[in-house]
Amino acid sequence: MDIKSTTPLGVYDKSEEEEKKIILREYRALLRALKQNIKKGDKSLLRHAFEMAVEAHKTTRRKSGEPYILHPLAVARIVVEEIGLGVTSAICALLHDTVEDTEITLEDIAREFNNNVSKIIDGLTKISNVVDIRGNSTVQAENFRKILLTLAEDPRVILIKLADRLHNMRTLDSMNREKQLKIASETTYIYSPLAHRLGLYEIKSEMEDLALKFTQPDIYTDITRGLKETRRERTRYINEFIKPLKEELSHLGFDFEIYGRPKAIHSIWNKMRNKHVTFEEVYDIFAIRIILKSPPEREKEDCWKVYSIITNFYHPNPERLRDWISVPKGNGYEALHTTVMGPGGRWVEVQIRTARMNEIAEKGLAAHWKYKEGAPSAQESKLDSFLEHLREVLASPNTDTVDFIQDFKLDLFTEEIYVYTPKGDMRVLPKGATALDFAFDIHSQLGTRCIGAKVNHKLVPLSHKINSGDQIEVITSSKQHPSEDWLQFVVTAKAKSGVKAYLKEDKRKTAESGKNMLKRRLEKMNTTLSQHNINELVQHYKKSSPLDLYYAIAVSNVDLGELKNFTLYGDKLQHQSKEIKNDTKELVDEDALKIKHGKGVELVIFGERSDKVLYKLAQCCQPIPGDDVFGFVTSGEGLKIHRTDCPNAAKLLANYGHRIVKTKWAKNKEISFLTGVRITGMDDVGVIQKITNIISGELKLNMRSLSIDSKDGIFEGTIMVFVHDREELNMFCNKLGALDGITKIERIDSPEG
Ligand code: MN
Repeated sequence: MDIKSTTPLGVYDKSEEEEKKIILREYRALLRALKQNIKKGDKSLLRHAFEMAVEAHKTTRRKSGEPYILHPLAVARIVVEEIGLGVTSAICALLHDTVEDTEITLEDIAREFNNNVSKIIDGLTKISNVVDIRGNSTVQAENFRKILLTLAEDPRVILIKLADRLHNMRTLDSMNREKQLKIASETTYIYSPLAHRLGLYEIKSEMEDLALKFTQPDIYTDITRGLKETRRERTRYINEFIKPLKEELSHLGFDFEIYGRPKAIHSIWNKMRNKHVTFEEVYDIFAIRIILKSPPEREKEDCWKVYSIITNFYHPNPERLRDWISVPKGNGYEALHTTVMGPGGRWVEVQIRTARMNEIAEKGLAAHWKYKEGAPSAQESKLDSFLEHLREVLASPNTDTVDFIQDFKLDLFTEEIYVYTPKGDMRVLPKGATALDFAFDIHSQLGTRCIGAKVNHKLVPLSHKINSGDQIEVITSSKQHPSEDWLQFVVTAKAKSGVKAYLKEDKRKTAESGKNMLKRRLEKMNTTLSQHNINELVQHYKKSSPLDLYYAIAVSNVDLGELKNFTLYGDKLQHQSKEIKNDTKELVDEDALKIKHGKGVELVIFGERSDKVLYKLAQCCQPIPGDDVFGFVTSGEGLKIHRTDCPNAAKLLANYGHRIVKTKWAKNKEISFLTGVRITGMDDVGVIQKITNIISGELKLNMRSLSIDSKDGIFEGTIMVFVHDREELNMFCNKLGALDGITKIERIDSPEG
């Protein structure tokens, strides 16, 4: 993804001299960062790459007006300073956009530099070629698959890509809103999970904070302000907490650092959202970190000693102890986490790790072990086994790529459990994995034939959830075949794609006969199964692919009698009722709107060219005027409007960028929109009366439903009302909040949500 333009925008007013100085300063900073890793001859290679990039990009500027070369320079610095890669990667970062955007060819690079460099640049070019393509969702998902494939080949490609993306996110301010949303969504959808999986916690965290900043600016600002306002109090508390520990650790002769640090903004936001709490109610807004400078042979012992000292002062919560030192996480993370009761009855999380572990936590496993000069380590095998796993999953044929990415993403984020084969080999699986996932993890052949398992010598069904420490023996039968319902309980990408591949193959065979039936029907009509006709029919029967259509025909789920409603133009089928219009045609039928709003009014939303377009509001987030929204062109239901903070937004924006329509609300005071709020409060007999007073008395809103549940003196209620816009909703919430006994009000995404 390149953020650039040939004409400078905005107020950019640096002279050529100043620019030269800045560019040189950046280059020198890069050299300084590489210092320890520079060998003989490296410097001239670097210089060569730098000059080549400067020359290649000399006529281009970024959207901000800056010379383009500052981008590759910044990417190179991230690659070196924040990921810890060496000279080869720095060279590649400097040249990462040249083959795609300038006259320079891959052959030029191969000639001037070594084979590694040209291979990496080739990988980077392939990724950027595919990311921005205008195509269907499968194409988009296929892109992600390609990204993952390059990862499996040489992790440096993806590490440089992550640096590239990070810098683009840092400079997203100068892009237009549409681009911001698309880039930010793509980042949360694929790049930050990857950074997480590769153990690049700092980068992952910054990416997610920036994505939040651009997708939900209000929330971002609120939390930032909240953090600022509470800083003084927090610092005081942290100092009080740390003081006795510091004294004791120094007294015992430890060489260490101890500090408190606030959690990332997006993680605070996740807590608020998942637990339905306000900023003030998020209790673990910071964590205490202790970093020990221990020699390798004493690391484990020292960390546990420190744990024991902490618990002499503060009482630990036994359920919150995490030992990632004895068994590191799959992405290489090592540390001891505990949560203890601090002064004033507050739970405080403490993370204990050594300086080496800390470096892995910040820069990731790949950087630390694989490409840094120095001895390899046992840790390398962790990365290797992850990459091996990735290659296996990617290699499975016939998987639907959109699904695949979804499944794979789940794998990236979940907590892990550690289980054992009958021979005592350890396997790492995501939490919630079943016996069947275990079977697929060992081998897909074992998975497709699995009929059950013995967990700790006890017979269990396929769907049995396994736990850390379990020892599992898979039982198979040659007569076994995967079935649709297996997908209900398997959780790993490998198992899912294994089952799906089998089912798809099965379906393909059935579909073959449907295809033949259709072919004969069309021949009778004097036409053929041409690409045009297939598309026309897939659309008419509302199927997602030709395969689905053939399958539905084979199992007689579609009525081929409807073919008589088609007219033949030459050999092209055309549905009679379908009119050919220009691209501003009505996108939705009026009936749907009548149901939704009680009257047949034409609602308008303004796209880029202020066309009047009909649309539907997405059920998943129920937007109202005033919300930040985008339009999404669905395949059968016209334009749908989603909130940019809709739970599905990231997925849609990242996968179907080409179907996004920029929208904003028209000023329209006549129509009201259904929305809902959830309220919590202390039980009060008069509360319903007061609420209805506000709704129908003061604000004269039209209420659709009000339900209140109360238990043990606390009540929770859901109110669905029609409002004109966000302003009215806010007014409503403020009035509710002013009532005695109501403690919390939050908007809900959908009536079920
Ligand atoms: Mn770039």
